[in-house]
Amino acid sequence: MKPFRYCPACATELDAADPDGGGRCPNCERSWYRNSSPTVGAAIVHNGSALATVRGREPEKGRLDVPGGFLGPGEHPLDGLRREVKEELGINVDATVEDCISMAIHRYGTEGDFVLALGFKSSVSGEPSMSDLTGSDDVAEVRWVSAEELEDLDFAWPHDRELLRKALRDGGS
Ligand SMILES: [Zn+2]
Repeated sequence: MKPFRYCPACATELDAADPDGGGRCPNCERSWYRNSSPTVGAAIVHNGSALATVRGREPEKGRLDVPGGFLGPGEHPLDGLRREVKEELGINVDATVEDCISMAIHRYGTEGDFVLALGFKSSVSGEPSMSDLTGSDDVAEVRWVSAEELEDLDFAWPHDRELLRKALRDGGS
């Protein structure tokens, strides 16, 4: 992941990056760091199968992941989880801090940015029609997969396979 070259606030060229990857702006005197971006993902288990989604957008379009996405600034992970799943699948899920069963670092996109991926075992609230999930622009297709099927599927990031494997082992609604 490349350090910032120009100040994100005032566009002045930054002083050379320090060993931690931070660059100081000689104009506004702020220091800028490239940190991992946090994401949240939902492991939804229903009738012995886990929900996987086919990515509708680049990067990794056409490969599998789980519903979820990047957190907004200041957004709590559980709020982000509910928001993302609602946006992508139109359903309400719930999870607690204790349901966080996976933490992984991976690279994302052409720049290889670092992502901190938090995976939550999530339950669906209410009685949605689980067979009618259609997806959104982010999601090309929704698949229900068994523990055996998991092994042969083309996941964009291996930690999502691990997350679903773990959630299936724990059981679900
Ligand atoms: Zn500046």
